[in-house]
Amino acid sequence: MKLGEVELHVVSDGEFRVDGGGVFGLVPKVLWEKVVAPDELNRLPSALNCLLITSEGKRILVDTGLGSKLSPKDQELHGLYRPQGGLLEGLRRLGYAPDDIDIVVNTHLHWDHSGGNTLLRDGVPVPTFPRAQYFVQRLEWADAAYPNERTRNTYLLENLQPLQELGQLNLISGDTRITRHVRCWVTRGHTRAHQSVVIESNGQTAAFLGDLASRPVYMERLGWISAFDTEPLETLETKRALREWAVERHALLFFEHDLGTPLGHLRQQEGKYSVQGFGGLHGREEGDKTSSAN
Ligand SMILES: [Zn+2]
Repeated sequence: MKLGEVELHVVSDGEFRVDGGGVFGLVPKVLWEKVVAPDELNRLPSALNCLLITSEGKRILVDTGLGSKLSPKDQELHGLYRPQGGLLEGLRRLGYAPDDIDIVVNTHLHWDHSGGNTLLRDGVPVPTFPRAQYFVQRLEWADAAYPNERTRNTYLLENLQPLQELGQLNLISGDTRITRHVRCWVTRGHTRAHQSVVIESNGQTAAFLGDLASRPVYMERLGWISAFDTEPLETLETKRALREWAVERHALLFFEHDLGTPLGHLRQQEGKYSVQGFGGLHGREEGDKTSSAN
């Protein structure tokens, strides 16, 4: 897909399953199960959509999915499913090898966004993209390096340490421009230094929202916030501001964990917000009751 002078590709690392209570936090199940149907273990099928951006000759990968280091037992536990292979196979289908990636941006360092940062070589984790600089917020790095009892299951050293050891870590502080068309934008809430990636070219705008709003319904309903968010009230205000921003610019939005609608446009009509899926992808029907609220 072209956005002005920039090329964009959604690249999938497959899908996995996450407990519905974690995904929707305080929202009662009777409401969220109308939006996404849980399996018999109350888990929701969840995409692992990454984004490949080509801008000014640079190939920029945003997030890296779960990666290839999970044991068979963990793969089963988390319902990992890759009918078309993982991220590296997806990149290969586009004609790219790991060597071709210049920059990796992690929206944040939770394991389902940074798992593919590294892979095992002779049992030792090494950077998956040997030439890449990995752009990570300094504060997110600090939180990941010193996790607490609530966050330590999602911040895994094996996804982080090899980048630092091999000089491939590029710590950034706050909003940061990467190319003329691509910039990191701190969108606080899911974690205190969570960042989105904004793409702007020839008057067109797109944004990869990471876990600020990993499914369209999070943009449609401000109060729907995952239980994984460390600062839910910050998420609420960040989303409030971002909704206006996205509607004003008719921004194309990427939803990292949504299987049905990986990208779409947010619309506002009579105070109600709804996401319209983009292109030939099987987005939700317009007028669908589940796709507009508050
Ligand atoms: Zn996530």
